[in-house]
Amino acid sequence: MHDVLPSDMHLWHFLEDTVRDVLSTYGYREIRIPVLEKTELFARAIGDATDVVEKEMSTFEDRNGDLLSLRPEGTAGVVRAVLQNGLLYAAPVRLWYMGPMFRRERPQKGRTRQFHQVGAEVFGAAGPDIDAELLVMCQRIWQKLGLEGIRLEVNSLGTSRERAAYRESLHRFLSDNRDRLDADSINRLDRNPLRILDSKNPGVQELLRDAPVLNDYLGEESLGHFEGFRSLLDGFGVAYQVNPRLVRGLDYYSHTVFEWITSELGAQGTVCAGGRYDGLVEIQGGRPWPGVGFAMGQERLIELMRHQAEPPGEVPHVYLVMAGEEATAGGLQLAEQLRRQVAGLRIQSNLGGGSFKSQFKRADRSGAPLAVILGEDELREGQVTVKHLRDQTGQEKINLDVLESWFKNYLRMLN
Ligand code: ATP
Ligand code: MG
Repeated sequence: MHDVLPSDMHLWHFLEDTVRDVLSTYGYREIRIPVLEKTELFARAIGDATDVVEKEMSTFEDRNGDLLSLRPEGTAGVVRAVLQNGLLYAAPVRLWYMGPMFRRERPQKGRTRQFHQVGAEVFGAAGPDIDAELLVMCQRIWQKLGLEGIRLEVNSLGTSRERAAYRESLHRFLSDNRDRLDADSINRLDRNPLRILDSKNPGVQELLRDAPVLNDYLGEESLGHFEGFRSLLDGFGVAYQVNPRLVRGLDYYSHTVFEWITSELGAQGTVCAGGRYDGLVEIQGGRPWPGVGFAMGQERLIELMRHQAEPPGEVPHVYLVMAGEEATAGGLQLAEQLRRQVAGLRIQSNLGGGSFKSQFKRADRSGAPLAVILGEDELREGQVTVKHLRDQTGQEKINLDVLESWFKNYLRMLN
């Protein structure tokens, strides 16, 4: 688990502001759900035989004997909240969330035990139009973040009945070739053979080339849904590849599944993943409402922003240098006045006095491009000195009565 330090915060803010802006332009509304839920919620929703539930959840017994888990993902909790609060009366509903998730995985590059996701979930819409909307929305988010080269892979998992038939024939094929499976895959063979499609082992991948393909087991309706989805993506100009072996780690998916992948982050290159989960609301005790959604890994996106399009860091515009008691009192009031008058102006005032020299040292460390100096002379003359700290512009004296317009103009020039 990591701390997010102030020096990285501009990346988080830029990502979160961008996501919030884009999602709201599509009519998505934010929902905030607890970090802790009853373990049974995740066991039921995600599936007992998944990695997440089998070995990745942080679970503990509460004082009264309840088994609780830190949420490993957001969808199960959103479904619970939607049912408990009767939000489906207005279906279709478009929701989004953001926050920390917890999985006890082996920590490695791109995988931590606390990480953050932005997710979107839509309930009550069965057609492929909404699946495609989710993806064009992702693409818009990548554009706004200035990110390039994130490729999209899609697949269809069909219905659970179709998947069961496929599962049987895949199981037969893999059992016949058991000697070519690694320990991890043998472990999954009887419990969840579809997960073997996801194996990173080159030998297993080689074997899978001859394995039966899920697409051949889809009926007309599922194929129609998938085709509709793909032609909508084409219409939106969203490029994709069909990956017939793409499955998702959680059990609740059906029909559309997708991943957005970058090759710039090494082995953990999936920055966003999701799909349709038409059975999930019913599993949780609701009517069989269809659902579809995605989750983005914020840390991975931020790592990619660092590679490609880091936004400027947030530093104060102004460090306020004040010499003498009288100037300090006047300076603090002046700073208040400017904050009131000039929207968005960031002023950091010097604390604890000190010589000009030591105050300028702090001004330098603050990263501010400007120092505003208020000494005895300035106080007497009704002026301040504005000194440019990061370039050769030098310094100038400015009358107090034009300070407001000077700074408004300054901010205008910056943007
Ligand atoms: P994988 O097969 O790589 O384990 P997953 O199926 O567990 O992926 P999801 O549950 O779909 O991943 O999570 C969606 C996204 O959240 C991932 O694509 C990734 O960007 C991010 N994510 C998942 N687990 C972690 C983690 N432990 N640390 C950092 N980010 C993560
Ligand atoms: Mg995982």
